[in-house]
Amino acid sequence: MEEAGRRRRRVDLHTHTTASDGQLRPAELVALAAQRGVAVLGVTDHDTTAGLDEAVTAGQRVGIEIVPGIELSTAVEAGEVHILGYFIDFHDRPLQEALRSFQERRIERARAMVSRLQALGIRIAFDDVLALAGGGTISRAHLARLITERGYTSSLEEAFARYLARGRPAYVPHERPTPVEAVQLVQAAGGAAVLAHPHTASDLARLLPELIAAGLAGLEAWYGEYSEDQRRSLVELAEVHGLIPTGGSDYHGEGFREGRELGSVDVPPESVERLRRAASRTGR
Ligand SMILES: [Zn+2]
Ligand SMILES: [Zn+2]
Repeated sequence: MEEAGRRRRRVDLHTHTTASDGQLRPAELVALAAQRGVAVLGVTDHDTTAGLDEAVTAGQRVGIEIVPGIELSTAVEAGEVHILGYFIDFHDRPLQEALRSFQERRIERARAMVSRLQALGIRIAFDDVLALAGGGTISRAHLARLITERGYTSSLEEAFARYLARGRPAYVPHERPTPVEAVQLVQAAGGAAVLAHPHTASDLARLLPELIAAGLAGLEAWYGEYSEDQRRSLVELAEVHGLIPTGGSDYHGEGFREGRELGSVDVPPESVERLRRAASRTGR
């Protein structure tokens, strides 16, 4: 019994690298995943595929399968919804053009927020933000780190609460695609679209039918931070709607957040095969 348990192919379909806000380079992430017994690893950086070539090469070297993925940030009225894409053709030109325009919007937004911070007497420069992001996807977390490192606030939470959160003086809204547009973008790139951490969506009952009509393939059920009960009810919800239950740790680095340990989730290999089939039916 134990032997069989040890041999089980671990599957983790939701991880981040330094291409977005993860702490490990893609090759480092893959090496660590192999060490932890992960046999199938989804690499899903925010709004970028820049880490995938390195991850795929590293996966071939250590003998684990890399599922090329992405996690797209989208906007609905009541906040943020993340759409995962799996088995995408990440060299697809329209996909890359769309991602480039998302990046430009992020940069413009960060620039506008830095101007507001400067007007509030906070001395940080936009170049500092760029340097901190190191060529990766820029987010408000980078601004929070700078504000805190310079001693204007004592924690990242405080930086958000005082300046960066929605409704605070340095906040600038982010122009993002809608969740339906993200599902369509994933499909056009030959991938299978999955709703990430569904409990983040405040209006799931309204959102889900819309996404299914657009071609959503799956629902993230075995999510790092979710309890057993939450996971079970999401698997049931997926079944009710004919969606593929998927899962992943949402690993960003060691000690990032409880429940987010690499390879800590228990996703059945069957979900990977179903995603692969769903992806093969999309695109051109
Ligand atoms: Zn997410
Ligand atoms: Zn994530």
